[in-house]
Amino acid sequence: MEAILKKLNIQSQSPGLSTGQQSWEGRGPLLESYSPVDGQRIASVHEASREDYDRVIQKAQEAYQAWRQVPAPKRGEIVRQMGERFRAYKTELGTLVSYEMGKSLQEGLGEVQEIIDICDFAVGLSRQLYGLTMHSERPSHRMYEQWHPLGVVGIISAFNFPVAVWSWNAMLAWVCGDVCVWKPSEKTPLTALACQQVIREVLESNEVPEGVSCLITGGRSVGEWLANDVRVPLVSATGSTRMGKAVAEAVGRRLGRSLLELGGNNAIIVAPSADLEVAIPAIVFGAVGTAGQRCTSTRRLIVHASIYDEVKERLSKAYGQLRIGDPLDEHQHVGPLIDTTAVESYQATVAEIEQSGGYFVVAPRVLDGPGYESGCYVAPCIAEVAPTAAIVQHETFAPILYLIRYETLEEAIAIQNGVPQGLSSAIFTLNVRESELFLSQVGSDCGIANVNIGTSGAEIGGAFGGEKETGGGRESGSDAWKVYMRRQTNTINYGTALPLAQGIKFEV
Ligand code: NAD
Repeated sequence: MEAILKKLNIQSQSPGLSTGQQSWEGRGPLLESYSPVDGQRIASVHEASREDYDRVIQKAQEAYQAWRQVPAPKRGEIVRQMGERFRAYKTELGTLVSYEMGKSLQEGLGEVQEIIDICDFAVGLSRQLYGLTMHSERPSHRMYEQWHPLGVVGIISAFNFPVAVWSWNAMLAWVCGDVCVWKPSEKTPLTALACQQVIREVLESNEVPEGVSCLITGGRSVGEWLANDVRVPLVSATGSTRMGKAVAEAVGRRLGRSLLELGGNNAIIVAPSADLEVAIPAIVFGAVGTAGQRCTSTRRLIVHASIYDEVKERLSKAYGQLRIGDPLDEHQHVGPLIDTTAVESYQATVAEIEQSGGYFVVAPRVLDGPGYESGCYVAPCIAEVAPTAAIVQHETFAPILYLIRYETLEEAIAIQNGVPQGLSSAIFTLNVRESELFLSQVGSDCGIANVNIGTSGAEIGGAFGGEKETGGGRESGSDAWKVYMRRQTNTINYGTALPLAQGIKFEV
């Protein structure tokens, strides 16, 4: 790990602030980053003070004045070069993601691949950013719309996707002509510093204005500064629903724009015709991948009564084969939770399941002994619970899967929609009537609805996000770029008269 940290230029005591080309130590409290893999301290940073924060925002504002005038395809070319740098540093950055956050090496590398993919997407987008033309009702008039950049975009990210979420926002925002100020999770500051290091050379060699890519490490208070700051027209916030509500209120009070990507409580429906050879691995990956710490993790499994016992048995068998341990060891299936607080939350949920009369098909356990010294490893578990149990309404960020039985598809859809969150959903069926009902307006109420694919593992080409308490935001592909720009409608009169809209007569 030492060689990797060196290659990514992460020192034992690293500067926690950056305007792209310049980095400095913040005057706020010390933030230590410990790995959940082995409990070791990796490095520390000094968080931002309010003065540091203001300095960064001022730099970002200055940079915006120049950056917005760079033609979009030229901005795309810079993003293309960034993608090349991430290709070159994929192994190192992916390994650090795995070590600092605790996800498997494969998933750490996958996150860096997402950065590369969104760079490619953004490059193409930089020659598009299409507006529409409309036909005017007035003679010799032309009407069209165009998209202009917004300004400073604040990006508040969560620990579980410590780098990919930033890139979904930043790469699109940059080709749109915005500048970015990133506040990463206080649980994963080093991967964020590493991203700044990776792109630094591109910023320098292209003489990109200092301040286009800013980083401010710190905790909740830095996020609050961004949410309350009128100099930041868009705040993109990924994290818990609790955080999203606070950000939405603060941004709303100043009539700013927020893009919210919040908690999920995702379900898979397994219908009688489901191909279990496809469904079982999808369910297991969805429930235990990233130790159940994906916003799209599968938390509820709604199984038809006719195949309920078979699914339960096959899942128990599959869970029995799971290897839990060091995520950097490719033989392990499940790594640690992010910290011991997350372990406490897993234990509290387990206790609540027991109190509410739930039954564990696969038992929960906190692991100890050699290899588990960090105290962050837990066993993925499966609990049979009533769909009405209060605990089922909550997202617990841990590998706990609820097993629920259904009789009719309408009932299954009602159970699946009967939670406050609305991120990802899936059905396993070979029956076209069932899949179409599930995808129809009376089917899933989520932002993502899949057929014969699990709830997690989205591609960057589609718009990503969810409804209800998930926040309603959309990031990444499709036309998600529009949130980073302001729309302007233009009407041009090239005639010699002044006809008014709606036929209104006004003569002077
Ligand atoms: P969290 O809400 O604790 O923290 C997320 C970020 O918000 C951190 O950077 C934190 O410092 C900041 N923050 C906290 N309170 C704030 C406030 N009042 N104002 C401004 N900023 C504040 O979340 P977490 O534990 O890091 O991540 C897990 C959560 O994120 C889960 O609920 C998960 O579902 C969600 N998540 C959602 C998506 C999505 O795309 N929908 C993606 C990843 C994670």
